Amino acid sequence: MTDLFEYPKHVSFNCSLCARCCGDTEDRVRQILLLQMEAQRISNATGLGIEKFATKVSGSEPYIYRMRKPVDGKCFFLKESRCTIYSIRPLICRFYPFQLKNLGNNRYVFSYTNKCLGIGKDPQLTRDFFENLFNQFTKAFEENSETTQETT
Ligand code: SF4
Repeated sequence: MTDLFEYPKHVSFNCSLCARCCGDTEDRVRQILLLQMEAQRISNATGLGIEKFATKVSGSEPYIYRMRKPVDGKCFFLKESRCTIYSIRPLICRFYPFQLKNLGNNRYVFSYTNKCLGIGKDPQLTRDFFENLFNQFTKAFEENSETTQETT
């Protein structure tokens, strides 16, 4: 595959399952944005209407929903510090603490936040890790575009 994306070369990361990224912290309000396809998939799997767990937002397209955080600023689906929709969690959750920025001309760059407690813990990440994330991103956006075409 050609180098469509750049990534940090010497970063180590190991998720400590602290669930801090699943809600607000003392110094940060967490926005858990959802694609239409993701909201629909969660709704189908849980039997809940989308409006039960998310609200509509504008200005962040293609993300058009924001997860509700009903208790202590924590995600609707976080129960006893565990994600109850882990296998279908949104892309934004799969990416944390990394972000992908579109540089234009089909080029992207990964960055990360030091606020995550897992940053700095072994193992050091390789290109494969970022390629896997990048593939998930591509797949989700393709599926989302098919879903939105079907519903428009
Ligand atoms: S969907 Fe799961 S991983 Fe994402 S914020 Fe909610 S509880 Fe955390």
